Amino acid sequence: MKCFYHPGYYMPLPEGHPFPMEKFPGAYEILCEETPSLRFSFVEPASSEQLLRVHRADYLEAIRTDGLTGYDRRRLGLPHRTILLERSARETAGTIAAMWAALDDGVACNLAGGTHHAFADRGLGYCVLNDVVVAIAELRLTQPDLWVMVIDTDAHQGNGTHALLREQANTYTYSIHVGRNYPAVKEPGDCDVPLERYVSGETYLDALQSTLERSMHAVEPDLVFWVSGADPHADDRFGQMQLSTEQMRQRDAYVAHLCQRWEVPLVVTYGGGYNRQAGMTGRLHANTVQTVAGLYIA
Ligand SMILES: [Zn+2]
Repeated sequence: MKCFYHPGYYMPLPEGHPFPMEKFPGAYEILCEETPSLRFSFVEPASSEQLLRVHRADYLEAIRTDGLTGYDRRRLGLPHRTILLERSARETAGTIAAMWAALDDGVACNLAGGTHHAFADRGLGYCVLNDVVVAIAELRLTQPDLWVMVIDTDAHQGNGTHALLREQANTYTYSIHVGRNYPAVKEPGDCDVPLERYVSGETYLDALQSTLERSMHAVEPDLVFWVSGADPHADDRFGQMQLSTEQMRQRDAYVAHLCQRWEVPLVVTYGGGYNRQAGMTGRLHANTVQTVAGLYIA
């Protein structure tokens, strides 16, 4: 199974910043050490041309030049760095590369991405660029008719993805998330499954299993992007869900197995994760990749 990554996904943040940037090298190191069957490729940043299919030029320029207003900076949640646009473009390129690899091989992972709160003209909640929507725009150049489904199991609603894909033909968005949590304003998707705050792992898994396959039947997708999310874990700072590490594995196995059974190419991305335990966010993302690899490589 091909995995796409670059050390440049990491960007130093101030001490105490809640975004665990170390999850990128952390998960990569775990996977290199524990899962030798994976094949890793480094990616170059997505081009301006690719990003401009989705994002506004003035927004990209503001990210590059520290031109965001104070309000826009706060709602993005990341400080200005000269490498911020480049690292986000690299992360986006990982999802594009994983998409082509999944269409060739049936499955592939970007060891990052799933930045589902980003809109065309603004970044929210640590999400600068909407990697999945940029990848879909790339796909449309040659494959306009493929049915594309986004499965979002991050604890937060994929508002940017939902808004950007709403008017696009042959796309379907599914999100299972806490109803009364960030983002305060939800963007309707094709299937939204809002859950109570601090939902138990059992209830989450029941809700997932009773809705996701129904969506698969409705769409019969030709390609799935999965924004997996490490933040449904019980020890997450922001997820407001109560899944154990084992229940996270059950979630991962359910989604991956469903895609495998439907024989639909699967692109795995990370989404969010803000675990209170040091190193745990990277561990959870690595677990997701390992669960997928275990099903597809076995
Ligand atoms: Zn999240």
